[in-house]
Amino acid sequence: MKETSRAVRPAILIIGAPGSGKGTQGKILGTIPRFFHCACGDIFRSLDTRTPLGQRFVNYSSKGELVPDELTIELWEAQIDNWSDSHLYKPDIDILVLDGIPRNVRQAEILEKHLKVHQVFHLSCPNREELARRMRKRALKENRMDDASDRVIEQRIKTYEAETKPIIDYYSKDLVTEIDASRPPVEVLNAILSRVVQLEFYKDFAKVVV
Ligand code: ADP
Ligand code: MG
Repeated sequence: MKETSRAVRPAILIIGAPGSGKGTQGKILGTIPRFFHCACGDIFRSLDTRTPLGQRFVNYSSKGELVPDELTIELWEAQIDNWSDSHLYKPDIDILVLDGIPRNVRQAEILEKHLKVHQVFHLSCPNREELARRMRKRALKENRMDDASDRVIEQRIKTYEAETKPIIDYYSKDLVTEIDASRPPVEVLNAILSRVVQLEFYKDFAKVVV
């Protein structure tokens, strides 16, 4: 990690099953000045496969294996450093909106060294049929073939339950906000923003004139 980016990075996390709306909300939040959306899946997909890091990623993904936690964080950090170096992301004044990372408790533990989590938004949608419906729709609209088969959808939801959902309990209760993700996007966004503006860290942040 570079010295220049060692300043504590304030962050909010969006946790939720596939199809719960993390990307939808993250993208909108990222358009707001002083918010920076970081979707881990997008980082992996955009890696230059000719670089050593990109090669290591391909070695795992081409075998259908999960990328190990340390490498995941390393890839994530490399991208964060790129964004910082090019001043797209300003770690001292931007609120990082993380979507798709951490994916398990171990990653959450490792990330403690890299950022300061101010709130965790759990996009909760117990209706698995609704999640599957959204993913099927997304498969058609965004050509995400990983969403197209019912078997894969079911497997991804299972993986979420087993690996990712325990993250919610890892954070202390006052850090977690439950959001009803079955509501329309505008209402989900409203719930997230209403909470953000109440947070002490945000109030301090809002005072900084840039
Ligand atoms: P995630 O990143 O959590 O997997 P996405 O944001 O990609 O989920 O959303 C998956 C699909 O569901 C997209 O087609 C999106 O348009 C739709 N969607 C997202 N949020 C909502 C919502 N609150 N209500 C209805 N559809 C939604
Ligand atoms: Mg997504």
